[in-house]
Amino acid sequence: MAAISKIHFPTIDSFDGDYFFLSNFYPSPIVGVDDGIEYPTVEHYFQAHKVLDLDERAKIAAARTPGMAKRAGRAVDLRPDWENVKISVMYEALQEKFKDPELLSQLLETGNKQLVEGNSWHDNFWGDCRCPNCQYKTSYNKLGGLLMQIRRNNGEKKK
Ligand SMILES: [Zn+2]
Repeated sequence: MAAISKIHFPTIDSFDGDYFFLSNFYPSPIVGVDDGIEYPTVEHYFQAHKVLDLDERAKIAAARTPGMAKRAGRAVDLRPDWENVKISVMYEALQEKFKDPELLSQLLETGNKQLVEGNSWHDNFWGDCRCPNCQYKTSYNKLGGLLMQIRRNNGEKKK
């Protein structure tokens, strides 16, 4: 019996090259809605919000690269409510990022394609890891989902 094949929607599954602007590592200065701190990327914003202490946040905001901010975020003692707020923190950061009209217009240009951050670092929560070990793991695609939500809220074009 034939396997049931997945329905494949047109998908942008790699946030690099022409679609690097969808990545949280893309340079897009944003100001924290709750702390007034300027963050160079969504990654800096997200990682810094793992803590409540503003001095600690400012240090993460000052990390020279988003990769360094990510490593700094791995080393912190997580705020107690982190698991409950992390998706809304990400959404907040993305909303700030896409207030930039140029970036918003690029996002709208993706039409109604599925947005999925395909990756090799085993992240099946925010994206979809393509390594053999993750093949049968469920991908929650939370980052792509939030990006598509912002696109919808801003009147995505039908293509
Ligand atoms: Zn993997």
